[in-house]
Amino acid sequence: MERETVSAAVASPVAATPPALALPVPANLVEFMAMYGTEDACLEALIAARWPGGFACPRCAHSKGWRHANRRLIECAACGHQASPTAGTLLHMAKLELHKLFLLLYLLVAEKDGANAKQLQRQVGVNYKTARLWTLKFREMLHERERDKLVGRVQIDETIVGGSDGTSIGRRLGENRNYVLIMVEDRGKSCGRLRMEAIDDATGDMLQTVVESRVEQGATAHTDGLAGYRGLKKAGIRHKAEVIGDSKQASEKFPKVHRVAALLKRVILGTLQGSQSRGWLPWLLAEFEFRFNRRRSEKRPLLFARAVEFGLKVTGKTRRYFTTRRYFTEKGTMFREMGLT
Ligand SMILES: [Zn+2]
Repeated sequence: MERETVSAAVASPVAATPPALALPVPANLVEFMAMYGTEDACLEALIAARWPGGFACPRCAHSKGWRHANRRLIECAACGHQASPTAGTLLHMAKLELHKLFLLLYLLVAEKDGANAKQLQRQVGVNYKTARLWTLKFREMLHERERDKLVGRVQIDETIVGGSDGTSIGRRLGENRNYVLIMVEDRGKSCGRLRMEAIDDATGDMLQTVVESRVEQGATAHTDGLAGYRGLKKAGIRHKAEVIGDSKQASEKFPKVHRVAALLKRVILGTLQGSQSRGWLPWLLAEFEFRFNRRRSEKRPLLFARAVEFGLKVTGKTRRYFTTRRYFTEKGTMFREMGLT
């Protein structure tokens, strides 16, 4: 059995100031393939990200280990403990080859408008079920990242996505049409951070619950005159309501929310060919949020490296988790659509 020492290959040569990122960041897809094109290269990268200061045995802290030839394990040279670089992480027990998982994640976060499971299935060469499951897992992870509440002035409005515009009657929505609550920090000329949630209706209870969970107490919510927002004060959120005459006035008064809404609709039309549906809208929103909040600050491939590193800190959700969320209660249609039954 072929064995190779890990400590020398993995230990970072720079000890004084550890690099912010342990993973090499590709500039584009070609570089990505050169860096992460094989199972072996991806495993090396995971080991480097898991132990940025060099391997340390989780049981005895010894710094030397041997990589297992056929499995994703490092055997401690001192105590023989077999450490898995993926244990307890998003990639825990993943059956799919690492280089395919890395490529899925790269295409999802580093490409401009992301990708849907159908495209990923073709590009990565996995079956649809697998592409769908991992798309959901990665999106869920991105959603986990966006936890901090919004502060300062926050523009809030609800929009409707899906279906063809103009067919909804009053507040009742047709099949495949959903409310999305958009909350975005108003920083004068620019938008700050964005939070979005799919909501079942625009009642006061719903709006209040969602806004409370995403906006910090003491922040100022800037909304239209919809009565449902009146309860925000009780939650310690200052409220500035603006009575809006027509939709033209709405986009003048709330330019940031409307810019986000327009972008979101474009992504749904482009990436998803308009076929978003209730079941996986929350994850689509999570991905959109993730990308929007990093539109300027980082290079897209950097998002990939950060996502991998973050993925090492969270536990992956199981297939079962995705089939039991409340979003899937709609007559079981989601189960079929996702190919998870
Ligand atoms: Zn050990």
